[in-house]
Amino acid sequence: MKIAFIGLGNMGGGMAANLARAGHDVRAFDLSADALAQARGNGCETFTDAGEAVDGVEAVVTMLPNGGIVKSVYQGSVFGKAPAGAVLLDCSTIDVATAKAVIAEAEAAGYPMVDAPVSGGIAAANGGTLTFMVGGSDEAFERAEAVLKSMGKAVIHAGAAGAGQTAKICNNMLLAITMIGTAEAMKMAEKLGLDPQKFYEISSVSSGFNWSLNNYTPLPGVGVASPADNDYQGGFATALMLKDLRLAMEAAQGADAAVPLGSRAAALYESFAGAGNGGRDFSAIITTY
Ligand code: NAD
Repeated sequence: MKIAFIGLGNMGGGMAANLARAGHDVRAFDLSADALAQARGNGCETFTDAGEAVDGVEAVVTMLPNGGIVKSVYQGSVFGKAPAGAVLLDCSTIDVATAKAVIAEAEAAGYPMVDAPVSGGIAAANGGTLTFMVGGSDEAFERAEAVLKSMGKAVIHAGAAGAGQTAKICNNMLLAITMIGTAEAMKMAEKLGLDPQKFYEISSVSSGFNWSLNNYTPLPGVGVASPADNDYQGGFATALMLKDLRLAMEAAQGADAAVPLGSRAAALYESFAGAGNGGRDFSAIITTY
């Protein structure tokens, strides 16, 4: 399949390489010359203009920093330039409102489109093991699925346009809350004189079990191996968690949803990131207790 790929950063670089590896004819574009050089090395054809990259393609994939950029790339370089009927896939993490608006505009211009944000970081992007949560019509999903399968291990149709972004931010808000709850409980147990490893052994098989405790234990040397054992390097950066929490708070406000714990988690991650911890794994928030 002839596929344009726009946004060859930490995530997009590996995703485009996997499409090329799967035998697709990948036409890559990024503003960065270094990213383009790397894409050429990974078997992609590169372009210095996004409008040229989408010429004659059957699909366009974007992996960009935010909603404003996604909107301007589709309006300026994809709509009216990619052949009518080409399927459009935005894999970036962006706000729900922009995702819905761009998909509505795409469909009015004759392009089936999905929002398809990912779970999994740079290693999963490189390894082709991402999970895609997809929003869009049945027809758009069916067309997109074939493309997404070359870049991930799981592709889930979440619902209508915007449902992929909704699933992603609600999941990550829950993750932030469980991580903070786990940190509080572990540190309180320790203060009360309970060995944190004993707390892990008990709570991980009791009603307190949750992914942050059981699969990502935030204290070094306790529970399972995790970024805590590597001085909180690697894993999921606090700055990216904060980005997702800000998107979650914006969406909650727009939907008039009550999120007392989500907003507290967002405030705690704001101040943690603001104190110079943006590059550390998000589980390092336990070091503030
Ligand atoms: P990144 O900053 O490494 O890459 C973004 C790329 O987009 C850069 O190469 C940049 O040059 C390019 N770009 C910016 N504006 C452009 C434009 N107008 N036209 C073409 N290219 C443009 O970011 P990333 O880590 O690859 O993240 C991309 C998206 O994936 C974000 O929405 C992020 O939230 C999401 N995400 C990231 C991770 C992660 O672990 N890094 C995990 C899940 C989701």
